[in-house]
Amino acid sequence: MPHTNELVLLPNHGWDERILICRNGELVQTFIVVTQRYVVLVDTGINPATAQQMVDYARPALDARRVLLVINTHADYDHAWGNQLFADPDAPFPAPILGSRRCADRLRMREEGPLLEELQRTEPTIFGHVRLTPPTLWFDDEVCIDGGDLTLHLIPTPGHTDDHLSIYIPEIATLLAGDAAELPYPAARTTAGLPAMRASLATLAALNARTVLYCHAPVDAGPQLLHDNLAYFNALERACRAFLEKSPGAELPTDDAALIRLIGCDYADVTPHSSLWREVNAHYRTTGHAEQLRMMITWLQAQD
Ligand SMILES: [Zn+2]
Repeated sequence: MPHTNELVLLPNHGWDERILICRNGELVQTFIVVTQRYVVLVDTGINPATAQQMVDYARPALDARRVLLVINTHADYDHAWGNQLFADPDAPFPAPILGSRRCADRLRMREEGPLLEELQRTEPTIFGHVRLTPPTLWFDDEVCIDGGDLTLHLIPTPGHTDDHLSIYIPEIATLLAGDAAELPYPAARTTAGLPAMRASLATLAALNARTVLYCHAPVDAGPQLLHDNLAYFNALERACRAFLEKSPGAELPTDDAALIRLIGCDYADVTPHSSLWREVNAHYRTTGHAEQLRMMITWLQAQD
């Protein structure tokens, strides 16, 4: 997917007016939360140019009464690569960047360094100026930001990545899930991440938020997507358990389609039957789905 510097502000579909949603092409959504005390940017996009546009959209709210704050949901490139705009020595908009300790480590240790170098080579106009910049305020547990009218609860939700956090705003029963939930499903990257991710999904579903907004799902997806994501992984677990019972010790094929056939768990069998779910990128129906099945098998085998 080619990247773009363009960031558009989405029209409000009924969520609280103090939340602004920015969309960067087909890639990702970032958020601006305007409270009495703070203007909070949730994620900084793919580069300084996208972060700059977030500041531009936030500017009308940035008067003398409000302080700018930045949050990283996690260190992935589509969420934290605009950080330098706020934390460089010559940053044009100095502001604290909050994130988990692990998020800070990922950026400080340049875990995404090879990806950055590759993207700087292939898409220099987009990524040429990116410098990996870690959060400047990091923490291990839940953190609350008292904005006066709205409170932002930063809740650790590891799984998709181990540094992930989501944001719950109780006054308006609104959850910014980040990548803890996605259409069609959040992908665990490691076997250990799989149970962590399902536990995080359950934590978020139990909040019973009225409005749930995601970084990678339509703005109208609603709270149901949390339950659909949980159901997807529950269905994978059922299929993998049945398979292991029937064929313990079976060798798993390396071919994705063959693996999906062998376990008997098609993407279409374990996701809702609507066009939204049918029209996702083919990766999610094939390779991505097979990856989650492989991790589920490995996880179940480690349980015995
Ligand atoms: Zn993402």
